[in-house]
Amino acid sequence: MTKYIFVTGGVSSSLGKGIVAASLAKLLQARGYRVTIQKFDPYINVDPGTLNPYEHGECYVTDDGAETDLDLGHYERFLNIPTSQANNVTTGKIYQTVINHEREGVFLGKTVQVIPHITNEIKRRITALSVTGEYDIIITEIGGTVGDIEGLPFIESIRQLKWEKGNQNALVIHLTLIPYLSAAKELKTKPTQHSVKDLLEVGIQPDILVCRTEHPLNMDIRRKLALFCNVTVNSVIEARDADSIYSVPIEMLREQLDKTVLEKLGLSAEVEPDLKKWIGFLNKLKNPKHEVTIGLVGKYVELQDAYKSIHEAFIHAGVSNECKVRVETIHSEYLTEENFKEKLGHLDGVLVAPGFGGRGIEGKIASIKYIRESKIPFFGICFGMQCAVIEFARNVLGLKDAHTTEVSSDTKNPVIHMMEDQRNVNTKGGTMRLGAFDCDLSDDSIALKSYKHKHIQERHRHRYEFNNEYRNQLEDAGLIATGVNTKRNLVEIVELKNHPYFIGVQFHPELKSTVENPHPLFVSFIEAALKQKEHKKNTQLQHENFSL
Ligand code: GLN
Repeated sequence: MTKYIFVTGGVSSSLGKGIVAASLAKLLQARGYRVTIQKFDPYINVDPGTLNPYEHGECYVTDDGAETDLDLGHYERFLNIPTSQANNVTTGKIYQTVINHEREGVFLGKTVQVIPHITNEIKRRITALSVTGEYDIIITEIGGTVGDIEGLPFIESIRQLKWEKGNQNALVIHLTLIPYLSAAKELKTKPTQHSVKDLLEVGIQPDILVCRTEHPLNMDIRRKLALFCNVTVNSVIEARDADSIYSVPIEMLREQLDKTVLEKLGLSAEVEPDLKKWIGFLNKLKNPKHEVTIGLVGKYVELQDAYKSIHEAFIHAGVSNECKVRVETIHSEYLTEENFKEKLGHLDGVLVAPGFGGRGIEGKIASIKYIRESKIPFFGICFGMQCAVIEFARNVLGLKDAHTTEVSSDTKNPVIHMMEDQRNVNTKGGTMRLGAFDCDLSDDSIALKSYKHKHIQERHRHRYEFNNEYRNQLEDAGLIATGVNTKRNLVEIVELKNHPYFIGVQFHPELKSTVENPHPLFVSFIEAALKQKEHKKNTQLQHENFSL
């Protein structure tokens, strides 16, 4: 029988429910259990695809083309198994289904209500993942904070499911914050007590408390929390601020979160978790032999979460090169001819980020010119690849007005234009080219050298594409299409000849990088950056020797 674990949050948002859920899942997986995680978001958007990254961070995309919350990225990076449409559900999706059913006449004669119709649909979605029998344990993370009005139907559904399945088959982990008052030099348990009371008010007794804290929880505090929140002392788990999200599973192991969970669910904890690979990764992460500095050029750089998967992919690729990757974020809107050298000149590699719309595009394009000419390793992703094509067309082919029709709809040289099947699309949500598509790689390309096999599948999220009418001209001048979707005749990768490392990809490789499988392109990019650094050092030495 499938077991259910629900993760709720209290006291404050941004406590890292996703990381705690992913860490617990990792530990259970390491003990041989088949685990998946899903995220329920109480907002009314059908999915986060229409949200500005400033609102909700990066939009993560699954193989089957779901535009999802960025926590799904953590789930995949930790568990190394793909997620799907079913792993992210929002209030919008729930209501959309129920309202469609109402129109179809499914509830004919009945008044459609939050309870039972909305809660039944939530429960159906929670249990849907168990139907295939693929998973022993399903972890469901509820977005937001307990007490939020929009979260109530989800909390009520958990209450019902817990009752229906029985305490041995369903448990609730409540993640809270234990603030430290520096004036009093004391950790405070009151906000947690209140947040547990909020849960009790709606009929839920949490089984385990995971307490975010800046300082260790001593036995007195643990006992106090246990007493006031009706849990056993070993169900009070300390979650201290960690130096890396990848250390959290080890912290949770130390606190025996997995053991406590298994005991409560009546599952065996005999098999010790096999975390060899994970610990190997952590050791390398903490003891790098080299260091490189990479520039990340984008327009949402103020917010770390906007490029979450890129940052994580750098960490994975860094570890695989035994190298610390320092990422310098560079706002594309503020890049000008005057400050290129100062902002980009010292970098060992530059990644130009995905994006939408005209703001900051000229900074991206002009920075690529500088990177191309200074032979700094370059990696362009999606919009970044499109900008590389525009730059090359403008400055090498001399097509001064080359552009993407996304920004300049009447340009005479639309080197990037709207995909054929997008031209009649009028709605915004879920209508881009989304999910995994095939791509064939050319011999003698950076891509093939990196992936080491000719046929790949990568995830997409865009409306515009490389315009094949310019392919011959661009290739003759040295910008080669080295990855193509042959079925649809779409250029997916471009590379520059006579450059140490210059690659632009139409897809999002960052979404498939995991701890166990760092992405091959990120790995080869960091390798190229290391070589660049070495090369710079040698030329500097030569200079110094020469002037002696
Ligand atoms: N705006 C571009 C497009 O829609 C690129 C999208 C992206 O970078 N994800 O094609």
